[in-house]
Amino acid sequence: MLDVLVIGGGISGGSAAIYTSQGGLKTAVIDSGKSQVKQVSKLFNYPGIKEITGSELLENIKDQAFAAGTEWIEGAVETVKKNDNGYSVILADGKEFASKHLVIATNLQTSLLESLGFELAVNEKVPSGKIKKVLGIDHDGTSRLPNLYITSLLAGLSSQSVIAAGHGASIGISIVSKETGKTYMWHDK
Ligand SMILES: Cc1cc2nc3c(=O)[nH]c(=O)nc-3n(C[C@H](O)[C@H](O)[C@H](O)COP(=O)(O)OP(=O)(O)OC[C@H]3O[C@@H](n4cnc5c(N)ncnc54)[C@H](O)[C@@H]3O)c2cc1C
Repeated sequence: MLDVLVIGGGISGGSAAIYTSQGGLKTAVIDSGKSQVKQVSKLFNYPGIKEITGSELLENIKDQAFAAGTEWIEGAVETVKKNDNGYSVILADGKEFASKHLVIATNLQTSLLESLGFELAVNEKVPSGKIKKVLGIDHDGTSRLPNLYITSLLAGLSSQSVIAAGHGASIGISIVSKETGKTYMWHDK
């Protein structure tokens, strides 16, 4: 049984995993490898980094998660079920994982959320009018389901990598704080 399972290893999910792993929680990411940021040849708007390719940013996040202790699983989650202890997920290849906390960081993919009964609406922060968000998500990513968190665009935020990273990190900190009963803060010397 995992403490934290993150579905979606893009910018937000990878960032959440860095924090929960660093905070001592047994964390796994399941990722189908289609992060939007891979389409970005160069980013010039990620504060603190003058320029970086989307793929490099993603690899750095994955490396940081790995260094903090995250288990990284390549695959696509097909089914999510809530049970008495938390959540269980089943991958396309039939593998199954169980976790107390679940972070859904699937960005454009809404099918798992719909299967859990969440209501969707247009994310008005994206000009195309075609991108969806989940209704009723708090700024900290919490949802009406216990220990289930929703990141980034799906939480109604803007389509920017630094916002996705910050939101994932913030959710990670909330989970560690909740799980340990102490406000978590990661300050290097
Ligand atoms: C053309 C383009 C240009 C952009 N340019 C910029 C820019 O210049 N600056 C900037 O800051 N941002 C830019 N962005 C936005 C940036 O890419 C996003 O803000 C960022 O990728 C969002 O991170 P995320 O973690 O929410 O989603 P993503 O990074 O897209 O990650 C979602 C992950 O979830 C995985 N996933 C989905 N469903 C499942 C499932 N069922 N099982 C397992 N895994 C699943 C996907 O494979 C993917 O890896 C651009 C986006 C596009 C499309």
